[in-house]
Amino acid sequence: MEKFDADGIVIKTKVTGESDLIVFVLTRSRGILRAFAKGARGMKSKLHAGCSLFSYCNFSFTEKNEVYHINEADVKELFFSLREDMPKMTLAQYFCEVLLKTVPEGESEEEYLRLTLNALYLLCGDRRPILLIKAVFELQIAVLSGYAPPIHACAECGAFETDIMYFNCLTGDLLCKNCGRRGDAPDVPLAVVAAMRHIVFSPFEKVFSFQLNSELLRPLTLLTETYLQNVFQVKFRLLEFFWMAVI
Ligand SMILES: [Zn+2]
Repeated sequence: MEKFDADGIVIKTKVTGESDLIVFVLTRSRGILRAFAKGARGMKSKLHAGCSLFSYCNFSFTEKNEVYHINEADVKELFFSLREDMPKMTLAQYFCEVLLKTVPEGESEEEYLRLTLNALYLLCGDRRPILLIKAVFELQIAVLSGYAPPIHACAECGAFETDIMYFNCLTGDLLCKNCGRRGDAPDVPLAVVAAMRHIVFSPFEKVFSFQLNSELLRPLTLLTETYLQNVFQVKFRLLEFFWMAVI
């Protein structure tokens, strides 16, 4: 039996037995762990708060034959205000769905946790529009997973910028006015191209720090969600709920 501590955030819970939970934790050091939390549904359980959705904790785990148990959960942040705002809540749930379907199994890539925590802290504040947070999260997940779209220049002729540009949501290719005209990729406002370049090429601390006209945030995040679904070949179920909640 191995005992270890790990920081992590709860991205899914499932009821099991009378008062137990199966908790999916995105950890800093071991990817996503699926662990039993005995008695955690009980209101008086010391695990109750720490094992609820979006709780960020220092967890104490034990592992035996690849079965994990949570013994303690030292809460660092509950992101409680997400529960008071339907669009933010559904967006955070959508982030969890994306993580469950994209984080590689058993890998210890800390960046996924860092990205998720940053996105949730920003969602709880009001300093960034939620569609901007969504777009950054989606495109950064693609980048972390090795699917950074090659948008530094036109994929065919290498032009950096023309007055009209096109983005192919299947391949992630950017095309200039001349090369894109013949295909069926949609044209993209240059400010959206600049925003996507910012998200893909900036150092991590700066990925959320850009401004975009609010009317362009929706076209930006429609491209990023389509691209992300295409590279993973999945439909994210919670997207529909999110768009219903923001209308
Ligand atoms: Zn070109």
